[in-house]
Amino acid sequence: MISSYNGKYYNLVGKEFFIVPLPKEDEQLSSWLVRTAYKHQITPRSFISSYFPREYINKFWESDIDIKADKKLLFLLQKKSLLKEELLFSLTLNSYEGYLNERIVSTTRNNLILPLGSRARLKFLNGQKICPLCARENEPYFRKSWRLSFVATCTKHNTLLLSYCPKCNTSVTIFKIYNLESDFTCCYKCGFDFKIENPYYLADNSYVNELLDILNKGYVLIDDKPIYSILYFLMLKQLMKIICHLWKDEKYDSEFFIDNKFRQNFKYILDENLTNYELFHIYKEAFYILKSKNSFSIFCKKYKLLKYMIFKDMRYIPFIFEDALF
Ligand SMILES: [Zn+2]
Ligand SMILES: [Zn+2]
Repeated sequence: MISSYNGKYYNLVGKEFFIVPLPKEDEQLSSWLVRTAYKHQITPRSFISSYFPREYINKFWESDIDIKADKKLLFLLQKKSLLKEELLFSLTLNSYEGYLNERIVSTTRNNLILPLGSRARLKFLNGQKICPLCARENEPYFRKSWRLSFVATCTKHNTLLLSYCPKCNTSVTIFKIYNLESDFTCCYKCGFDFKIENPYYLADNSYVNELLDILNKGYVLIDDKPIYSILYFLMLKQLMKIICHLWKDEKYDSEFFIDNKFRQNFKYILDENLTNYELFHIYKEAFYILKSKNSFSIFCKKYKLLKYMIFKDMRYIPFIFEDALF
């Protein structure tokens, strides 16, 4: 049972946190903050209002703190938690800078990071995800990698992640809770407990681990030639968009994973408008096309894709893929 202090906040702005849970592997900053609030037996709202100066409060409520936590805020969190600033930074999506994208920016969208869609303190897009089986674990938490477009499954349980409440369709939201008895594995709007949702298992999601490995290492070997991960992820996204366009126009005849049954419902090309099921299959398709120069070349020939169509808007083009088109 947690308390809201009856709507009144203690002023703890100059104080350190009483209890500091250690961040878990691949945990998001927002998830760690909310777990810290629960350890203090208060709601995230009361916790933030008590411990942070007024000018910071909106940062938590109105935006995406996992991208918007700047140096000033990380310094403040370091003072309050006594955790190392580098450790706190590693919980933010900004830590993907130089690996996923050249720059991670808080003012606009980032390639392959799903937006939360914040408006009037509400989140309405698919940026936050939860695994019903991870939610059942002893001390559940939200993974940083779940914010990525190509991570539509839990790599631990092989299950499809949920971005919306199966009962009322509200976006999964970390900072809000349904009532004082519930926790952050429940839908804040209707109280649905994600733990009781039947998991949807996928046959093979090993490609997600391979993509996370590329992200972690900062490079990938294609036909034994290294490609900088930033370039690889630009190609992955580019290919994903091409597949979506072909698929939308009913020109796509998948040799891999996309079955015809969900072609009928397929209307969108933006990651944020696709279901996790669709994202899972499209990125899997793109991943296997990019596996070798040969598979990429076969794909381009089959759909008569020319250089300018593939490399549109790309400043740098990995030589191996450019070469595959000749
Ligand atoms: Zn899981
Ligand atoms: Zn709900």
